[in-house]
Amino acid sequence: MNQKTGKKIVVLGGGGFIGGHLAKRLKEEGNHVRICDIKKHEYFFHSEICDEFILGDLTDPKVVDTVIEEGVDEVYQLAADMGGALYIFTGENDANLMHNSATINLNVSRECVKKKVKKVFYSSSACMYPEHNQLDPNNPNCEESSAYPANPDSEYGWEKLFSERVFLAYHRNYGLNVRIARFHNIFGPQGTWIGGREKSPAAMCRKVAEAKDGDIIEVWGNGKQTRSFLYVDECVEAVLRLMESDFTGPVNIGSEEMVTINQLAGMAIAISTKDLTIKNIEGEEFISKYGFKCPLGVKGRNSDNKLYKEKVGWEVSQPLSIGLKKTYQWIKAQVDDKEQKTVWIYESPDNGKTVYRRDANENSINRTKIK
Ligand code: NAD
Repeated sequence: MNQKTGKKIVVLGGGGFIGGHLAKRLKEEGNHVRICDIKKHEYFFHSEICDEFILGDLTDPKVVDTVIEEGVDEVYQLAADMGGALYIFTGENDANLMHNSATINLNVSRECVKKKVKKVFYSSSACMYPEHNQLDPNNPNCEESSAYPANPDSEYGWEKLFSERVFLAYHRNYGLNVRIARFHNIFGPQGTWIGGREKSPAAMCRKVAEAKDGDIIEVWGNGKQTRSFLYVDECVEAVLRLMESDFTGPVNIGSEEMVTINQLAGMAIAISTKDLTIKNIEGEEFISKYGFKCPLGVKGRNSDNKLYKEKVGWEVSQPLSIGLKKTYQWIKAQVDDKEQKTVWIYESPDNGKTVYRRDANENSINRTKIK
């Protein structure tokens, strides 16, 4: 690793959404940034976000040994097998996501001790909070101290809780200098916006961007479930400030601006200035349309930032509407780009009543029936 200025930094999962933004900021600040990810970043050029990009699978200890060298100042561990509700809450990916993410964290925590890394960041999630404290949409409790007795509503959350404890155990037994944050719904541009792993702000922006005046937007669930969303730039700032502090954590990094999912959809519609109606879909109607139970997660969740403010002395402040506007504009550009690259195929036997489309770019023979 050739050091230029600043610190030698490794960002694991830097080919992903938050890791990409974090690596970009660290590189811009004059550090030498090495990324390892199992995939390349879809939306950033690698020269923008790092000095070295290693394409590798962190479940393999040999890869972790190569990526984390002696002399590394900081490791940011964001790699995880994860996704939105469709990936996490259907139960179909439980074994893989637990196995893959836990293996990565076991490999990384041990390697950081072996290679005497000066400081390590681990990204946990609000999904580790007990389900029983998040049943009332208007009154969720996500204070850090409420984590035990544990009862996350997904295996993704259980793995995060386990891995927090792995890093804390290395801290106790081997002096690993770790900082742990529990992220609450981070959103922004250059993240997954299509394909089933996208989170609700991206899904909402995409649906609105794809719709035409007079259309109906489908929102999963009764729309009353609550969440808060933190814009990615503020998340990165909060991570860097936590790293500079003396506080190990775990501590929440999120926004305290709680909204219902229908309010979120309404905000995206207002940004678009389109004339759209929201239709909530749940229960039997959902099952008969999609063939599986509506994957929703907890009824209410909001970040509780008291501990972060107390320990780090800073707080996030940007209103949701500002970040959502930037995200909508970016997703709208992706949707427009995709539309331009779409070949429309009209089936002739019914005089165009049935319409299929094909993505010209993907060399695909798969057609999607859209009418
Ligand atoms: P992301 O999926 O965009 O990034 C995770 C990255 O890890 C991906 O690029 C993926 O390819 C990589 N990865 C997965 N398996 C790997 C492997 N075996 N080897 C190497 N790389 C591998 O997700 P994100 O939203 O950027 O999240 C980053 C971290 O923050 C994750 O640990 C996630 O659990 C946590 N988190 C995110 C949110 C959120 O709202 N985005 C909320 C809570 C917690």
